Amino acid sequence: MESTMPHIALLASPGMGHLIPVLELAQRLVSHQSFKVTLFVVSTDHASITNTQLLQSLADSDDDGDLLDIVLVPFVDVSDIVGPGVSFVDQIVVAVLRSLPFLKTEISKMESPPSALVVDMFGTSALGIADDFNMLKFVFVTSNARLFSVMLCTPEMDRKEIDEHVKNQTPLNIPGCKPLKFEDTFEVFFMDPSGPSYQGFIDAVIKMSLSDGILVNTWDELEPFSLKALKETKKAPIYPVGPLVRPTKKSVLCNEIIDWLDKQPKESVIYVSFGSGGTLSTQQVIELAWGLELSQQRFVWVARPPIENDAAGNFLALGNGSDGTLNYLPEGFSARTQDLGLVIPMWAPQVEILSHPSIGGFLTHGGWNSALESIINGVPMIVWPLYSEQKMNADILTEDIGASIRVTMKPDRVVGREEIRSMVSKIMIDHEGRNIRTRIKELKNSATKAVVEGGSSYTSLSQLAEICIQRLKTKAYGA
Ligand code: UDP
Repeated sequence: MESTMPHIALLASPGMGHLIPVLELAQRLVSHQSFKVTLFVVSTDHASITNTQLLQSLADSDDDGDLLDIVLVPFVDVSDIVGPGVSFVDQIVVAVLRSLPFLKTEISKMESPPSALVVDMFGTSALGIADDFNMLKFVFVTSNARLFSVMLCTPEMDRKEIDEHVKNQTPLNIPGCKPLKFEDTFEVFFMDPSGPSYQGFIDAVIKMSLSDGILVNTWDELEPFSLKALKETKKAPIYPVGPLVRPTKKSVLCNEIIDWLDKQPKESVIYVSFGSGGTLSTQQVIELAWGLELSQQRFVWVARPPIENDAAGNFLALGNGSDGTLNYLPEGFSARTQDLGLVIPMWAPQVEILSHPSIGGFLTHGGWNSALESIINGVPMIVWPLYSEQKMNADILTEDIGASIRVTMKPDRVVGREEIRSMVSKIMIDHEGRNIRTRIKELKNSATKAVVEGGSSYTSLSQLAEICIQRLKTKAYGA
């Protein structure tokens, strides 16, 4: 006899940028919808400090009682496929594929099987398991609606048009959305449409469009046009459920950072971080350090050892064995800036930092989680896109919603210290940045309203929950 408690299984693919929002979705399903949730975490490195800290912070919080069950999929080794031409995305996809036998066995052993499986964008290979167990299947787009609009129309796009986009840098026409400029293109797949990953991408998108619904980490008021365009495709029901952002837990802020932030004036500190994987070259790190110093603005900078020509160099292997020493910074930088800022090696509690009243700006790579965390805390951004869909995000944040200024990136371009100094001043103090500082407060309000009871995203998640409950009833009555 199956339980009447609604139960959903979630699958998070490797990478903190996937695990963090999937975890937040799990917690919303538990706390807002009283669902039981089993979260499967696929990782290429469960022992990584970031994974351990995040999962530990969950274990420490007793808010979720027995309703949230986190299952670590046994460590998946993908080192055999690492090599030239194999991107971090390929590694993620293979890691999920190799986790499928475990996932299938675990679900088959469950006393009350889940009525739905939710995977992130890199987990579509697991959707067949949902079919095997007669479960509903959903895809959680941890990024924005505009990205998904581009993805969803790709399988039907004329191949010549994509080739033109790549070779001649012509814009791509996206039905119902503004054309995708080459400068903002989605690098992972479009840059090599003849490459081996491209067909996998198309197959994954087709599977997504055949799912029972797509959850997107955005909200109606933030991306009305892209969401309208998505819904009009009628390919799959669309559920905007965002912003799904981790709530602040002051307890995880280490004393050094909080003590220092507490002593700084309101909105006087710029936070600098390139997400979980972002990595700069040696020359770029030096220019950034000088730019911060020349700006004379207070800062907290999450710094990582430079790697040449690999902007995502830390995505699956944070630190790459570094011991955290800062010997790659310009000589004398730490001494000269000791009263101006803090350099945190490798990883910092970002949500807690962004929610501190002394933070007045965020220099970010424009990862979607970082962008949402900035919006929900009302912090204006400088977006410095590095890889993946970050240039598209930069366009949304700068041109569509007016929440940021943008660093223009070109291959091999080193952003100079004077440009960095000027952008930091613009966002923190100049008159020019005032509109952005006002706009971000409006966005913060809209984000907050979307996820509380009665808000658009809250309602959307409740609708999805209702469909799962109906499925459970149908199964219970053997229909
Ligand atoms: N993050 C963090 N501390 C760091 C760097 C990143 O807590 O030092 C978190 C950040 O708050 C965000 C996630 O890691 O939730 C990064 O996701 P995002 O989409 O911004 O970028 P990605 O790392 O996926 O490129």
